[in-house]
Amino acid sequence: MRFEVDIVFAGFPGRLTNGVLGWGSVALVRGEGQIMLIDAGGPVIRNKFQELLAKRGLSFQDIDIVTLSHLHFDHAYNIDLFSKALFVLSKQEWDYANNISKNKRDIFIEEKAIPLLRVFKTALIEKDNEEIIPGITAILTPGHTPGCMSVICEQEHDQKWLFAGDAIKNRGEILRQDFGLTLNLEQSINSLAKIKKVATRILPGHDGWITVDGDKIVAEGGNDFTIVFEQGLTVNGGLKEITIHLD
Ligand SMILES: [Zn+2]
Repeated sequence: MRFEVDIVFAGFPGRLTNGVLGWGSVALVRGEGQIMLIDAGGPVIRNKFQELLAKRGLSFQDIDIVTLSHLHFDHAYNIDLFSKALFVLSKQEWDYANNISKNKRDIFIEEKAIPLLRVFKTALIEKDNEEIIPGITAILTPGHTPGCMSVICEQEHDQKWLFAGDAIKNRGEILRQDFGLTLNLEQSINSLAKIKKVATRILPGHDGWITVDGDKIVAEGGNDFTIVFEQGLTVNGGLKEITIHLD
């Protein structure tokens, strides 16, 4: 395998009936002498982040590059932990986030990321197929936000693994072409078509891997999660934990 890809924290596509629950994926990509993170994750990963990297023999300082699919809080909350890294995001997202006070449509933008990105090293992607490192490129996939960016990792045998961020949040959006949260539905539909044309494997922003085989879309694995209740708490008549299997 040309690049070693490891899902550090798997995204989750559920929501509460009265609020937000889902969280974004964080992936680690190693190859070409570089260690990259695909998205910086949300608050939910923060107190485990150090441990998750340590398990892989890494510290925050070892991360060379962090790509940001967009600047929503559940993908860009932990930017401050990677002060040595180069941050790669689209110019369109950067401009959008910088004008957010004039444009209050998107309350999900992680506003504390903006002053940090002004002092950290950044590379702004302006057009499709810009190279981040050899074998890793970015394409613009707007809709969910005006500057959503997907990252393509070229693997052996012409395989192209694509990290979609929230251009595609979950497998349901691919199958139904229905987007739960988008600022521009037409752009989202076009971005999905663009992604399906280029990718052989897709990691949505809030779900597990999906294989693209011509017109066929196949979800890999069940993407299971266990919710644990501690301090003697039980739920549903005595359970200490509940595991959710996505079908
Ligand atoms: Zn988002």
